[in-house]
Amino acid sequence: FIYGKTGQYQDFEDYIFGTYIRIKIASKVNPEKIAKAIFTEMRRLEEKYDPYREGSVLYNLNHSEDWVQVDDETLALVDLSLKLAKQTEGAFDPALGRLIDLWGFSKYSQRSESEFKVPEPREIKEAILLSGYQKITVDYLKKSVKTNGAWLDFGGMLKGYALKRAYQIAKEYDKNCHGFIEAGGQIMILGPKFGRANWIVGIRNPRGNTYDSISYVYLKEGSIATSGDYERYFEIDGVRYHHILDPQTGLPSRGAISVSVVSEDPILADALSTAGFVLGKDRWLYTRTLFPKLGAEVLLITPEMKILKTDNFSIYENPDR
Ligand code: ADP
Ligand code: MG
Ligand code: MG
Repeated sequence: FIYGKTGQYQDFEDYIFGTYIRIKIASKVNPEKIAKAIFTEMRRLEEKYDPYREGSVLYNLNHSEDWVQVDDETLALVDLSLKLAKQTEGAFDPALGRLIDLWGFSKYSQRSESEFKVPEPREIKEAILLSGYQKITVDYLKKSVKTNGAWLDFGGMLKGYALKRAYQIAKEYDKNCHGFIEAGGQIMILGPKFGRANWIVGIRNPRGNTYDSISYVYLKEGSIATSGDYERYFEIDGVRYHHILDPQTGLPSRGAISVSVVSEDPILADALSTAGFVLGKDRWLYTRTLFPKLGAEVLLITPEMKILKTDNFSIYENPDR
Protein backbone atom coordinates (compact mmCIF):
# COMPACT_ATOMS: atom_id res chain seq x y z
CA PHE A 1 0.00 0.00 0.00
CA ILE A 2 1.07 3.58 -0.41
CA TYR A 3 1.88 5.50 2.69
CA GLY A 4 0.97 9.06 3.74
CA LYS A 5 -1.44 11.84 2.86
CA THR A 6 -2.33 12.25 -0.77
CA GLY A 7 -4.80 15.13 -0.99
CA GLN A 8 -5.53 16.77 -4.38
CA TYR A 9 -5.63 13.35 -5.92
CA GLN A 10 -8.78 11.62 -7.07
CA ASP A 11 -9.42 7.98 -6.28
CA PHE A 12 -11.15 5.36 -8.40
CA GLU A 13 -11.72 1.71 -7.67
CA ASP A 14 -12.93 -1.34 -9.53
CA TYR A 15 -12.80 -5.12 -9.14
CA ILE A 16 -10.97 -6.86 -12.00
CA PHE A 17 -8.68 -9.93 -12.22
CA GLY A 18 -10.25 -11.17 -8.98
CA THR A 19 -8.77 -8.25 -7.08
CA TYR A 20 -9.28 -4.56 -6.34
CA ILE A 21 -7.79 -2.09 -8.79
CA ARG A 22 -7.18 1.34 -7.29
CA ILE A 23 -6.24 4.42 -9.26
CA LYS A 24 -5.00 7.57 -7.57
CA ILE A 25 -4.49 10.28 -10.13
CA ALA A 26 -4.02 14.01 -10.55
CA SER A 27 -4.43 15.35 -14.08
CA LYS A 28 -5.55 18.45 -15.92
CA VAL A 29 -7.52 16.11 -18.16
CA ASN A 30 -10.71 14.73 -16.59
CA PRO A 31 -9.31 12.07 -14.21
CA GLU A 32 -12.56 10.14 -14.25
CA LYS A 33 -12.31 9.74 -18.00
CA ILE A 34 -8.77 8.39 -17.70
CA ALA A 35 -9.76 5.98 -14.92
CA LYS A 36 -12.71 4.70 -16.91
CA ALA A 37 -10.56 4.09 -19.98
CA ILE A 38 -8.08 2.15 -17.83
CA PHE A 39 -10.76 -0.02 -16.22
CA THR A 40 -12.27 -0.74 -19.63
CA GLU A 41 -8.90 -1.86 -20.96
CA MET A 42 -8.28 -4.07 -17.93
CA ARG A 43 -11.66 -5.74 -18.33
CA ARG A 44 -10.89 -6.39 -21.97
CA LEU A 45 -7.65 -8.14 -20.97
CA GLU A 46 -9.32 -10.09 -18.17
CA GLU A 47 -11.86 -11.54 -20.57
CA LYS A 48 -9.52 -12.09 -23.46
CA TYR A 49 -6.94 -14.01 -21.41
CA ASP A 50 -9.17 -15.82 -18.94
CA PRO A 51 -8.15 -19.43 -19.65
CA TYR A 52 -11.27 -20.84 -18.00
CA ARG A 53 -13.88 -18.76 -19.83
CA GLU A 54 -15.33 -20.55 -22.83
CA GLY A 55 -14.46 -18.73 -26.04
CA SER A 56 -11.58 -16.65 -24.64
CA VAL A 57 -8.32 -16.56 -26.57
CA LEU A 58 -6.54 -18.77 -24.04
CA TYR A 59 -9.49 -21.13 -23.75
CA ASN A 60 -9.43 -21.65 -27.50
CA LEU A 61 -5.68 -22.20 -27.54
CA ASN A 62 -5.82 -24.63 -24.60
CA HIS A 63 -8.66 -26.65 -26.02
CA SER A 64 -7.37 -27.00 -29.54
CA GLU A 65 -5.16 -29.85 -30.70
CA ASP A 66 -4.08 -27.90 -33.74
CA TRP A 67 -2.42 -24.62 -34.62
CA VAL A 68 -4.52 -21.59 -33.75
CA GLN A 69 -4.08 -18.23 -35.43
CA VAL A 70 -3.69 -15.38 -32.96
CA ASP A 71 -3.63 -11.59 -33.15
CA ASP A 72 -0.47 -9.51 -32.71
CA GLU A 73 -1.11 -8.77 -29.05
CA THR A 74 -1.47 -12.46 -28.19
CA LEU A 75 1.53 -13.44 -30.28
CA ALA A 76 3.64 -10.84 -28.44
CA LEU A 77 2.38 -12.00 -25.03
CA VAL A 78 3.01 -15.68 -25.74
CA ASP A 79 6.46 -14.84 -27.08
CA LEU A 80 7.29 -12.72 -24.02
CA SER A 81 6.01 -15.36 -21.61
CA LEU A 82 8.21 -18.01 -23.23
CA LYS A 83 11.20 -15.68 -23.13
CA LEU A 84 10.63 -15.07 -19.41
CA ALA A 85 10.35 -18.83 -18.84
CA LYS A 86 13.69 -19.44 -20.55
CA GLN A 87 15.37 -16.55 -18.73
CA THR A 88 14.31 -17.95 -15.35
CA GLU A 89 15.10 -21.57 -16.21
CA GLY A 90 11.41 -22.35 -16.05
CA ALA A 91 10.76 -20.95 -12.57
CA PHE A 92 8.26 -18.66 -14.26
CA ASP A 93 6.19 -20.97 -16.43
CA PRO A 94 3.13 -19.70 -18.35
CA ALA A 95 1.99 -23.23 -19.22
CA LEU A 96 0.98 -24.56 -15.80
CA GLY A 97 -2.75 -24.14 -16.36
CA ARG A 98 -3.57 -27.78 -15.75
CA LEU A 99 -1.73 -27.78 -12.42
CA ILE A 100 -3.27 -24.49 -11.31
CA ASP A 101 -6.71 -25.80 -12.17
CA LEU A 102 -6.02 -29.11 -10.42
CA TRP A 103 -5.23 -27.28 -7.18
CA GLY A 104 -8.33 -25.13 -7.58
CA PHE A 105 -6.44 -21.87 -7.83
CA SER A 106 -7.94 -20.81 -11.11
CA LYS A 107 -10.35 -18.17 -9.94
CA TYR A 108 -13.00 -19.69 -12.14
CA SER A 109 -12.88 -23.11 -10.57
CA GLN A 110 -15.52 -21.63 -8.26
CA ARG A 111 -14.20 -23.69 -5.38
CA SER A 112 -15.23 -22.50 -1.96
CA GLU A 113 -12.89 -22.43 1.05
CA SER A 114 -14.10 -25.82 2.29
CA GLU A 115 -13.84 -27.51 -1.10
CA PHE A 116 -10.10 -27.06 -1.52
CA LYS A 117 -8.19 -30.31 -1.42
CA VAL A 118 -4.66 -31.48 -1.99
CA PRO A 119 -4.56 -33.38 -5.29
CA GLU A 120 -3.43 -37.01 -5.34
CA PRO A 121 0.29 -37.48 -6.18
CA ARG A 122 -0.80 -39.42 -9.27
CA GLU A 123 -2.94 -36.51 -10.48
CA ILE A 124 -0.08 -34.07 -9.94
CA LYS A 125 2.32 -36.32 -11.82
CA GLU A 126 -0.05 -36.56 -14.77
CA ALA A 127 -0.59 -32.80 -14.86
CA ILE A 128 3.17 -32.12 -14.75
CA LEU A 129 3.74 -34.47 -17.69
CA LEU A 130 1.19 -32.52 -19.75
CA SER A 131 2.42 -29.07 -18.65
CA GLY A 132 5.36 -26.77 -19.19
CA TYR A 133 6.45 -23.96 -21.48
CA GLN A 134 8.55 -26.32 -23.63
CA LYS A 135 5.27 -27.76 -24.93
CA ILE A 136 4.21 -24.44 -26.48
CA THR A 137 5.16 -23.98 -30.14
CA VAL A 138 4.94 -20.74 -32.10
CA ASP A 139 4.86 -20.18 -35.85
CA TYR A 140 5.81 -16.52 -36.21
CA LEU A 141 5.24 -16.38 -39.96
CA LYS A 142 1.74 -17.79 -39.75
CA LYS A 143 1.11 -16.00 -36.42
CA SER A 144 -0.05 -19.25 -34.90
CA VAL A 145 0.37 -21.00 -31.55
CA LYS A 146 0.00 -24.68 -30.66
CA THR A 147 -0.21 -25.73 -27.01
CA ASN A 148 0.30 -29.48 -27.53
CA GLY A 149 -1.80 -30.47 -24.54
CA ALA A 150 -0.48 -27.88 -22.08
CA TRP A 151 -2.71 -25.08 -20.80
CA LEU A 152 -1.53 -21.50 -20.92
CA ASP A 153 -2.27 -19.39 -17.82
CA PHE A 154 -0.94 -15.82 -17.74
CA GLY A 155 -1.88 -15.33 -14.06
CA GLY A 156 1.75 -14.64 -13.14
CA MET A 157 2.19 -11.74 -15.57
CA LEU A 158 -1.20 -10.48 -16.77
CA LYS A 159 -1.65 -7.85 -14.07
CA GLY A 160 1.80 -6.55 -14.99
CA TYR A 161 0.79 -6.31 -18.63
CA ALA A 162 -2.49 -4.65 -17.69
CA LEU A 163 -0.55 -2.07 -15.66
CA LYS A 164 1.71 -1.39 -18.62
CA ARG A 165 -1.33 -0.75 -20.80
CA ALA A 166 -2.88 1.38 -18.07
CA TYR A 167 0.25 3.53 -17.91
CA GLN A 168 0.25 3.96 -21.70
CA ILE A 169 -3.41 4.98 -21.70
CA ALA A 170 -2.96 7.49 -18.87
CA LYS A 171 0.01 9.06 -20.64
CA GLU A 172 -1.87 9.26 -23.94
CA TYR A 173 -4.52 11.35 -22.19
CA ASP A 174 -2.02 13.47 -20.28
CA LYS A 175 1.70 12.90 -20.31
CA ASN A 176 2.02 15.02 -17.15
CA CYS A 177 -0.52 13.15 -15.06
CA HIS A 178 0.79 11.69 -11.81
CA GLY A 179 -0.29 9.25 -9.15
CA PHE A 180 -0.28 5.48 -9.18
CA ILE A 181 -2.33 2.38 -9.91
CA GLU A 182 -2.53 -0.54 -7.54
CA ALA A 183 -3.61 -3.98 -8.73
CA GLY A 184 -3.68 -6.58 -5.98
CA GLY A 185 -0.15 -6.50 -4.65
CA GLN A 186 1.43 -4.61 -7.52
CA ILE A 187 1.87 -0.87 -7.94
CA MET A 188 2.58 1.11 -11.12
CA ILE A 189 3.68 4.68 -10.60
CA LEU A 190 2.17 7.18 -13.06
CA GLY A 191 4.33 10.04 -11.87
CA PRO A 192 5.93 11.46 -8.69
CA LYS A 193 3.75 12.56 -5.78
CA PHE A 194 2.63 16.17 -6.36
CA GLY A 195 4.78 16.01 -9.52
CA ARG A 196 8.05 15.92 -7.58
CA ALA A 197 8.17 13.71 -4.46
CA ASN A 198 8.59 10.00 -3.82
CA TRP A 199 5.71 7.70 -3.23
CA ILE A 200 6.37 5.64 -0.14
CA VAL A 201 5.32 2.04 -0.67
CA GLY A 202 5.00 -0.34 2.26
CA ILE A 203 6.30 -3.89 1.96
CA ARG A 204 3.81 -5.96 3.83
CA ASN A 205 4.79 -8.20 6.71
CA PRO A 206 3.75 -11.54 5.17
CA ARG A 207 2.62 -12.74 8.58
CA GLY A 208 0.94 -9.49 9.62
CA ASN A 209 -2.21 -7.68 8.56
CA THR A 210 -2.59 -5.52 5.44
CA TYR A 211 -1.14 -2.38 7.02
CA ASP A 212 1.71 -4.02 8.91
CA SER A 213 4.84 -3.20 6.88
CA ILE A 214 8.31 -4.60 7.46
CA SER A 215 9.89 -1.68 5.58
CA TYR A 216 9.29 0.92 2.89
CA VAL A 217 10.38 1.58 -0.68
CA TYR A 218 10.57 5.06 -2.24
CA LEU A 219 9.47 5.29 -5.85
CA LYS A 220 9.02 8.11 -8.39
CA GLU A 221 8.50 5.85 -11.37
CA GLY A 222 8.34 2.21 -12.37
CA SER A 223 6.61 -0.65 -10.65
CA ILE A 224 6.82 -2.90 -7.61
CA ALA A 225 5.21 -6.34 -7.55
CA THR A 226 4.96 -8.66 -4.58
CA SER A 227 4.14 -12.35 -4.70
CA GLY A 228 3.16 -13.74 -1.33
CA ASP A 229 1.92 -17.04 0.09
CA TYR A 230 -0.82 -15.09 1.90
CA GLU A 231 -2.62 -13.92 -1.27
CA ARG A 232 -4.50 -17.06 -2.23
CA TYR A 233 -4.22 -20.16 -0.09
CA PHE A 234 -6.01 -22.76 1.97
CA GLU A 235 -4.89 -24.60 5.07
CA ILE A 236 -5.27 -28.27 5.96
CA ASP A 237 -3.89 -29.66 9.24
CA GLY A 238 -1.85 -26.51 9.77
CA VAL A 239 -0.16 -26.72 6.35
CA ARG A 240 -0.57 -23.77 4.02
CA TYR A 241 -1.18 -24.52 0.34
CA HIS A 242 -0.86 -21.39 -1.78
CA HIS A 243 -1.14 -20.45 -5.44
CA ILE A 244 2.47 -20.19 -6.63
CA LEU A 245 3.48 -23.61 -7.86
CA ASP A 246 6.91 -25.08 -8.33
CA PRO A 247 6.77 -26.34 -11.96
CA GLN A 248 9.10 -29.23 -11.09
CA THR A 249 7.17 -30.68 -8.16
CA GLY A 250 3.70 -29.37 -8.96
CA LEU A 251 3.43 -28.32 -5.30
CA PRO A 252 3.23 -24.85 -3.74
CA SER A 253 6.75 -23.47 -3.63
CA ARG A 254 8.26 -23.45 -0.12
CA GLY A 255 11.49 -21.47 -0.49
CA ALA A 256 10.03 -18.02 0.28
CA ILE A 257 6.94 -16.49 1.81
CA SER A 258 7.15 -13.14 0.00
CA VAL A 259 9.13 -11.77 -2.94
CA SER A 260 9.05 -8.13 -4.06
CA VAL A 261 10.51 -6.97 -7.36
CA VAL A 262 11.09 -3.37 -8.46
CA SER A 263 11.49 -2.61 -12.15
CA GLU A 264 10.77 0.05 -14.73
CA ASP A 265 8.79 -2.60 -16.57
CA PRO A 266 5.66 -3.81 -14.72
CA ILE A 267 5.51 -7.07 -16.71
CA LEU A 268 9.05 -7.92 -15.67
CA ALA A 269 8.28 -7.00 -12.04
CA ASP A 270 5.23 -9.27 -12.07
CA ALA A 271 6.78 -12.28 -13.76
CA LEU A 272 10.00 -12.06 -11.75
CA SER A 273 8.20 -11.80 -8.41
CA THR A 274 6.57 -15.12 -9.26
CA ALA A 275 9.88 -16.59 -10.50
CA GLY A 276 11.78 -15.32 -7.44
CA PHE A 277 9.20 -16.97 -5.24
CA VAL A 278 9.73 -20.33 -6.97
CA LEU A 279 13.53 -20.00 -6.95
CA GLY A 280 13.32 -19.28 -3.22
CA LYS A 281 16.10 -18.94 -0.67
CA ASP A 282 17.97 -22.02 -1.94
CA ARG A 283 18.65 -20.35 -5.27
CA TRP A 284 19.12 -16.85 -3.89
CA LEU A 285 22.66 -16.50 -5.28
CA TYR A 286 21.31 -17.21 -8.76
CA THR A 287 18.38 -14.81 -8.31
CA ARG A 288 20.46 -11.92 -7.02
CA THR A 289 22.74 -12.01 -10.06
CA LEU A 290 20.10 -12.80 -12.67
CA PHE A 291 17.40 -10.26 -11.79
CA PRO A 292 19.53 -7.06 -11.92
CA LYS A 293 20.87 -8.25 -15.29
CA LEU A 294 17.29 -8.40 -16.55
CA GLY A 295 16.53 -4.94 -15.15
CA ALA A 296 15.01 -5.68 -11.75
CA GLU A 297 15.87 -5.49 -8.06
CA VAL A 298 14.53 -8.08 -5.64
CA LEU A 299 13.74 -8.55 -1.94
CA LEU A 300 12.94 -12.03 -0.65
CA ILE A 301 11.56 -12.97 2.75
CA THR A 302 12.44 -16.52 3.78
CA PRO A 303 10.07 -18.81 5.71
CA GLU A 304 12.20 -17.94 8.77
CA MET A 305 11.37 -14.24 8.14
CA LYS A 306 14.94 -13.45 7.10
CA ILE A 307 15.25 -10.66 4.52
CA LEU A 308 17.48 -11.19 1.48
CA LYS A 309 17.83 -8.39 -1.07
CA THR A 310 19.93 -7.07 -3.93
CA ASP A 311 22.19 -4.09 -3.10
CA ASN A 312 20.18 -1.60 -5.14
CA PHE A 313 16.87 -2.54 -3.57
CA SER A 314 16.73 0.39 -1.15
CA ILE A 315 14.50 0.07 1.88
CA TYR A 316 13.67 2.61 4.56
CA GLU A 317 12.30 2.67 8.08
CA ASN A 318 8.74 3.63 8.88
CA PRO A 319 8.65 7.36 8.06
CA ASP A 320 6.55 7.96 11.20
CA ARG A 321 9.23 6.79 13.60
P1 ADP B 1 -0.62 -12.48 -7.85
O1 ADP B 1 -1.70 -13.33 -8.43
O2 ADP B 1 -0.87 -12.13 -6.43
O3 ADP B 1 -0.26 -11.31 -8.71
P2 ADP B 1 1.66 -13.77 -8.92
O4 ADP B 1 1.97 -12.64 -9.80
O5 ADP B 1 2.81 -14.43 -8.25
O6 ADP B 1 0.65 -13.39 -7.78
O7 ADP B 1 0.89 -14.82 -9.82
C1 ADP B 1 0.38 -16.01 -9.30
C2 ADP B 1 -0.45 -16.68 -10.36
O8 ADP B 1 0.41 -17.10 -11.44
C3 ADP B 1 -1.15 -17.93 -9.89
O9 ADP B 1 -2.43 -17.67 -9.39
C4 ADP B 1 -1.19 -18.76 -11.16
O10 ADP B 1 -2.25 -18.34 -11.99
C5 ADP B 1 0.10 -18.40 -11.84
N1 ADP B 1 1.27 -19.23 -11.46
C6 ADP B 1 1.41 -20.08 -10.41
N2 ADP B 1 2.65 -20.62 -10.38
C7 ADP B 1 3.31 -20.08 -11.45
C8 ADP B 1 4.63 -20.23 -11.98
N3 ADP B 1 5.55 -21.03 -11.40
N4 ADP B 1 4.95 -19.52 -13.09
C9 ADP B 1 4.04 -18.70 -13.69
N5 ADP B 1 2.80 -18.52 -13.24
C10 ADP B 1 2.43 -19.20 -12.14
MG1 MG C 1 3.74 -12.39 -10.79
MG1 MG D 1 1.16 -10.68 -10.01
